Amino acid sequence: MFENLSERLDRSFKLLKGEGRITEINVAETLKDVRRALLDADVNYIVAKQFTDLVKEKALGQNVLTSVRPGELMVKIVHDELATLMGGHSVDINLKGSPAIILMSGLQGSGKTTFSGKLANMLKSKQGKHPMLVACDVYRPAAIQQLMILGEQLQVPVYSEPDSKNPVEIARHAVAEAKTKGHDVVIIDTAGRLAIDEEMMREIEAIKAAVDPGEVLFVVDSMTGQDAVNTAKEFNTRLDFDGVVLTKLDGDTRGGAALSIRSVVDKPIKFVGTGEKMEAIDVFHPERMADRILG
Ligand code: GDP
Repeated sequence: MFENLSERLDRSFKLLKGEGRITEINVAETLKDVRRALLDADVNYIVAKQFTDLVKEKALGQNVLTSVRPGELMVKIVHDELATLMGGHSVDINLKGSPAIILMSGLQGSGKTTFSGKLANMLKSKQGKHPMLVACDVYRPAAIQQLMILGEQLQVPVYSEPDSKNPVEIARHAVAEAKTKGHDVVIIDTAGRLAIDEEMMREIEAIKAAVDPGEVLFVVDSMTGQDAVNTAKEFNTRLDFDGVVLTKLDGDTRGGAALSIRSVVDKPIKFVGTGEKMEAIDVFHPERMADRILG
């Protein structure tokens, strides 16, 4: 669907070589190709512009103009800078505390409940933890039900208070229950709305203040492109979250949202969701995402 960036750059540099010399103006032309590729991958316009300015500086610094294979060198610079901007390496979640408390935030439909299940499953099966899931969505009985079904499937207990309308109290009680029952991780799934909403924000801020989680994760659908950046900004302003979970990367997105979010809110992307199944969870690897964005 997209033309591969490496192919694009090869083509433009071949044309340049036909002219017998490569100039700064020619480099500027190829940077336009880089920018177009980033925009195709759904990278935010301002982020793409800043990025190409940075690449230009590096390219001139590394003598792309006199290099034997300027196209290859350019692709390498672009790839390395992408990976660096996305954090360079993967970042763990904070599992300190007894129990460790992880709070999920994000819009409705972003994949919070699914990811809560995936994370519980991963911690249980790979790290030998004894997690407990908490249903804090007091508005949609279906959401509680969804988490209960996941819990049953994963053999992970789910704390809920179906008659309560107070998510802050539910979260508090859940943590107390986890302590009593010896759970070492509590994963709190919260209510999202279809769009940013003052009441939702106040509620999740109150939950955060009440249980003091060691890790607040912001879950975002990678298919939502530019909107993902604005949502991330809003949630970060209100919650000062610790990490991002990028879901639905199994769809046909190039994943440019990863670069945009990282650049705009400067918080690490920690996990990606790659499907509806409970095993479809991966730790975020900036290098792999750079490959994906470049195609
Ligand atoms: P919530 O409202 O934020 O709790 O979102 P849900 O967890 O209910 O997810 C919304 C929809 O997205 C559901 O149909 C999920 O199966 C689906 N979903 C969640 N994560 C992924 C993912 O990584 N890939 C795909 N393809 N679907 C996902």
